[in-house]
Amino acid sequence: MGNILYLISFWKKSERGRGILNMPALTPVQYNTVHNKMEKIVDKVFLKELRKAGEEEATIDQEKGDVDSTGTPYITVIADGAWSKRSYKTNYNALSGLAVIIGKATKKVLFMGVKNKFCIIGLKFETKNEDTPQHQCAKNWKGSSTSMESAIILDGFQRSVEMHGLKYTMLVGDGDSSKTKKLSSHKPYGATPIQKIECVPFTKEFL
Ligand SMILES: [Zn+2]
Repeated sequence: MGNILYLISFWKKSERGRGILNMPALTPVQYNTVHNKMEKIVDKVFLKELRKAGEEEATIDQEKGDVDSTGTPYITVIADGAWSKRSYKTNYNALSGLAVIIGKATKKVLFMGVKNKFCIIGLKFETKNEDTPQHQCAKNWKGSSTSMESAIILDGFQRSVEMHGLKYTMLVGDGDSSKTKKLSSHKPYGATPIQKIECVPFTKEFL
């Protein structure tokens, strides 16, 4: 898969690459279409891996008897994220944020989310003052950059039962209260509280 993505990148970026392969240049929209098709394939494989990790976590907690009254295993997770700032030849600051939720027992990723405040296709046409053609837009976040991480983590908690049949009732965090504040106000498991364990060195060990 990595080789295919590299080939697409080589094709797009390099005149020489296109010459060697005897292929025409891709327009930004064509590139976006190919990229999205590849992304769907990668997502499918990744989702399979996430579900496998969830099954392992469930088995460990079921054996320990950590299940609620409905038989749903409750587990301890570690959550953290990061956001980046990149510039694409203009003063426009493009921002993306990423966060992951990891099962403490398996140390495997159970959820990963990305929020983007920009879309390279939109940016390209906006800077040229042209109408943006129809495309699958990468922009999925309008809030502040700092709130991206807690929003992704909340998404992961809200989808834990649907994705894995698990409840993340213990969260090992890095002391950043904005993450836990969002979880406390949205209560993804209703009356079941989410306990927080603050441990900076522990999260750094994983991420
Ligand atoms: Zn867009």
